[in-house]
Amino acid sequence: MKRREFLKTSAFIGAGAIAAPVLMGGCASGVRRPGNGEVTVSPTICDICFWKCAGLVYKDDGRPWKVVGNPNDLHSRGRLCTRGTSGLGAYEDRDRLKTPLLRVDDNGEQSFKSVTWDEALDYIAAKLQKLAADHGPEKLALFSHGSGGGHFRHLLKAFGSNSYVAPSFAQCRGAREVAFKLTYGEGIGSPDRTDMEHSRCIALIGSHLGENLHNSQVQTFATALHNKAKLITVDPRFSVAAGKSDYWLPIKPGTDIALLLAWMHVLIYEDLYDHDYVKRYSHGFSALKEHVEHFTPEWAYPITTIPAAQIRESAHVMAANAPATLVHPGRHVAWYGDDTQRLRAVAILNALLGSWGKPGGYYMQEKVNLPKYPVPEYPKITARVQDANKGKYPEAYAGVSTAMFDASIGPDALYKAWIVYGTNLPLTVPGVVGRLQEAVDSLDLLVAIDIQPAEITGYADVVLPECTYLERYDTLRNSAEKQPSLALRMPAFKPKYDTKPGWWIAKQLGERLGLGEYFPWQDYKEVLEWQLKQVGSSLAEMQKIGLKTFPRKTPLYFSEGEDIEFNTPTGKIELYSTQLAKLGFDPLPKYTVHQEPQPGYYRLNYGRAPAHTFGRTQNNKYLFEIMPENVVWVHPRVAREWGLENGRYVKLKNQDGVESNHIRVRVTERIRPDSVFLAHGFGHTAAGLRLANGRGADDTSLITNIQHDPIMGASGMRANFVTFVEEEV
Ligand code: SF4
Repeated sequence: MKRREFLKTSAFIGAGAIAAPVLMGGCASGVRRPGNGEVTVSPTICDICFWKCAGLVYKDDGRPWKVVGNPNDLHSRGRLCTRGTSGLGAYEDRDRLKTPLLRVDDNGEQSFKSVTWDEALDYIAAKLQKLAADHGPEKLALFSHGSGGGHFRHLLKAFGSNSYVAPSFAQCRGAREVAFKLTYGEGIGSPDRTDMEHSRCIALIGSHLGENLHNSQVQTFATALHNKAKLITVDPRFSVAAGKSDYWLPIKPGTDIALLLAWMHVLIYEDLYDHDYVKRYSHGFSALKEHVEHFTPEWAYPITTIPAAQIRESAHVMAANAPATLVHPGRHVAWYGDDTQRLRAVAILNALLGSWGKPGGYYMQEKVNLPKYPVPEYPKITARVQDANKGKYPEAYAGVSTAMFDASIGPDALYKAWIVYGTNLPLTVPGVVGRLQEAVDSLDLLVAIDIQPAEITGYADVVLPECTYLERYDTLRNSAEKQPSLALRMPAFKPKYDTKPGWWIAKQLGERLGLGEYFPWQDYKEVLEWQLKQVGSSLAEMQKIGLKTFPRKTPLYFSEGEDIEFNTPTGKIELYSTQLAKLGFDPLPKYTVHQEPQPGYYRLNYGRAPAHTFGRTQNNKYLFEIMPENVVWVHPRVAREWGLENGRYVKLKNQDGVESNHIRVRVTERIRPDSVFLAHGFGHTAAGLRLANGRGADDTSLITNIQHDPIMGASGMRANFVTFVEEEV
């Protein structure tokens, strides 16, 4: 029998039937219009996604009114996206976690009971103290996503563990960071250092900007298009970006490296690359030239299905606009298991065009030199998060979530307790639902800290309800980007229910664990006040303005003819990677053939929807109203073969027999016949999410075939295929 059952968490919501979806009402007569009372404004940093746009929260006679962009924020250009302006939906959500919960066993039946904060924190502290005494503190691991995670990372290190993992490394952008570090000595970072507002040509490879709504990135993309920048979109799907393109290249999935090599061939063999830049800054050009000699557009055509003339023409357009040509690095890049190599090819292509460090290409980031609040040094920790990789993935500079799962199973597991902060692992990490259950069965303790009863809370021993970002102070935003700035998140409202801010939870746990010296403040405001004083500001000032910009101290771009020392072994941009060669990997990217679907199966492509962030926002009533469920895109020919009609519900079944929840069909010519597409984040099973539960299908559960990148451990997720199972009407 399993030690922990997955609790669908209906116990959270108390009595009462599942209510019908809440829709935003119109202005019924007699309803008071907001803005007529006493209006107050307080600053915040949006936490509906991780982009951290600065905003202003308006209240009307103390009641919530609206959240808008801070007009002085260059990071967000003073505007919030659809999701950001719906931030009040998170605060108002009737399904929020309301009290701490403890798993109890009542005559063999598992359930949660509400407990006080003291009971919950004492329980956790006692378990962690026993863990440290019996096995050592390094047996504790932290999974985290989002800005509040810093408080728990501090707690983790003070406790004596370094095992922190963000699923975004292996499931999202890790491969591009590693590839660019190998090539240029530094990564792309977040926000991405793309200078699109000055680009004259942009090439997107499987990156659907606009559907993937990173606020300022989409705004600079729109500026580029307004300025008539050329757009080349490589995507098997006619995405929103493809619809605005000069060239849409509907590539056969899995063949992107062949296209990238053919583009390099054209630039080099038609003498269109940036000679001066390549000579001055790069290492390994002759090896690259020899490597791509036979990778002609004619070679690439039968592989990619992109006609040679189009490959050639699009390469000419890139060269004609260089160095203001940006071959975009993408963001979610964990596809086929050769992802570092594909992103190396993207990095190399940018170097041939001379766009790194140049306007319209990639700018140099800078952040505010903000001192950390003084606390004692952390204990010396010898265990590394990479120990979970068992000698694999030599370039993984951060934790690999799937490896952490495996390292948490069995009597000799590296990890025996998890804190999971703000990351819904079952809908985030693919191919591991069974592994997740095995891991949590093996753990001595699983603590989930969240604002809503997401699926991960159903696996927890203790659930701690954090208040939303609109109800708390947090760490200052200090992102490396074009213009250094600090932004403040402060409470606009008192925490609802019995919820608490992350900093308070971490401090309380720290004190119970005898680590009070690492939390020497009574209130997090003291930390903010001290930090702000070091840079000539104050909390009082930031409470008024919310955001302060600082002058840059370093140049934004390389200057003409400047000598640059890159942080690579050769001090150059490594077209030929000496580090990969030393590790026994291909020093230059090669095209490898990927698995094809069986007859009657279609490649599962998935992506983002502009109204939602991963699986975090489906229960937000405002965003639910915009997009309550996802649909599966199916080519008309395939729909005909299967007798599928627009709007009809089907289930999807993958190559391993895993079936999805039901999902509506969207018949469209905007997808290749060999693929289907659905937006990620739907198909919730947690009963406590009363709007989102059972709406749409979960792509993550269909991704059971993972192709791990041997260089850094990315979880390649695009090698999965689905067929249709008709729903009974
Ligand atoms: S991109 Fe949108 S959701 Fe994300 S932080 Fe900015 S406004 Fe919020």
